Amino acid sequence: MRSPSAFTGDYPEIREAVAQLCADFPGDYWRALDQERAYPTEFVQALTEAGYLSVLIPEQYGGAGLPLGAACAILEEIQRAGCNGGACHAQMYTMGTLLRHGSEQQKQRYLPAIASGELRLQAFGVTEPGSGTDTTRIRTRAERDGDHYVINGSKVWISRTEHSDLMVLLVRTAPRDAGAKPSDGMSVLLVDLREAVGQGLTIKPTRTMMNHATTELFFDDLRVPAENLVGEEGRGFRYILDGMNAERILIAAECIGDARYFVDRASSYAGDREVFGRPIGENQGVQFPIARAHVQTEAAAAIVQEAARRFDAGDDCGAQANMSKLLASEAAWAAGDTCIQTYGGFGFAEEYDIERKFRETRLYQVAPISTNLILSYVATHELGLPRSY
Ligand SMILES: Cc1cc2nc3c(=O)[nH]c(=O)nc-3n(C[C@H](O)[C@H](O)[C@H](O)COP(=O)(O)OP(=O)(O)OC[C@H]3O[C@@H](n4cnc5c(N)ncnc54)[C@H](O)[C@@H]3O)c2cc1C
Repeated sequence: MRSPSAFTGDYPEIREAVAQLCADFPGDYWRALDQERAYPTEFVQALTEAGYLSVLIPEQYGGAGLPLGAACAILEEIQRAGCNGGACHAQMYTMGTLLRHGSEQQKQRYLPAIASGELRLQAFGVTEPGSGTDTTRIRTRAERDGDHYVINGSKVWISRTEHSDLMVLLVRTAPRDAGAKPSDGMSVLLVDLREAVGQGLTIKPTRTMMNHATTELFFDDLRVPAENLVGEEGRGFRYILDGMNAERILIAAECIGDARYFVDRASSYAGDREVFGRPIGENQGVQFPIARAHVQTEAAAAIVQEAARRFDAGDDCGAQANMSKLLASEAAWAAGDTCIQTYGGFGFAEEYDIERKFRETRLYQVAPISTNLILSYVATHELGLPRSY
């Protein structure tokens, strides 16, 4: 099923090893989970034990200390193999908030355990029902009470909370209009979910069109130790923004994996399936859309690679991170659409996995940031156009 250029991108050894691991989790594994909307515990365990989820943690804290490009290669191969990294990709990068802004004591306490997989930090609580993409309007608030913060409010679309020990949570510690800017007055707290659930935190799963362990959270006087504040009170919005480029580039890499999966599957099927006495792939009406999807995918992949390169070099990469996420998510969707068309009726049958992957990859035009908001970023930051909001 793989093209001749398999494993010749960056990090070929890592790619090959990830593909081998993924071969133990074929389509029927994912289909069974999809039916039940169940979590891929064994898959995540295998990735954890192989060390793939801790590659971005520096060696001094027990990780592999690899560049973002290596993490991109891992996630891309997971998706290309037909698996779903959405179950655990956040274990790779959520720790970045702690790494960049936490105290040395917090880093020593948590990062080695995250690196070993003993602690799962893969929940990231920002979105709220009333705020939408306008994060400055979050209303979940944390009030200081002695050596604790007391949290009240709610969050929506917070993924993997039921499969995480810790959560990075964005709260308001001062009203929106109290600071010089609306983004002032927000803070980041590290919440220990093992202690919080049932003690002021209620988690309610949200069933979605694809198997994605996402939830609503309700905070009712949840007490969190003040020592769990990450960085300075009131500066949390900046800390969250700091992690967004890495997240966008990694998710773009996943989309490239999805797109290549669809192109691989479509090419293979078009070569095998015979209708009117010849392979359907002999018809240019069938082969051109697949070729176009491939071209679109490779163009997007080049920008993802450039974004990761700039990130790893410490260069400004906001534009590339955003553009790569937009292009890769659209390439994956277009490739999925072409793949379904190539399969004809069989594209809709669950047993072929195409429809499942098609549902899964649709998310990335909306989350973690929607296409319109990326276009808005490019228009204002790159082209100097006036802000629309
Ligand atoms: C399955 C899933 C998992 C998620 N996981 C997490 C998670 O773990 N943690 C977390 O914090 N969040 C998570 N999210 C939330 C996700 O980041 C948001 O859904 C996403 O950022 C879009 O925000 P919204 O849904 O509030 O849309 P809204 O902000 O309500 O926007 C709705 C639509 O309007 C458009 N729009 C809004 N404003 C403008 C404008 N000014 N100009 C042009 N268009 C505009 C948007 O592009 C979008 O298409 C998840 C979401 C989903 C669906």
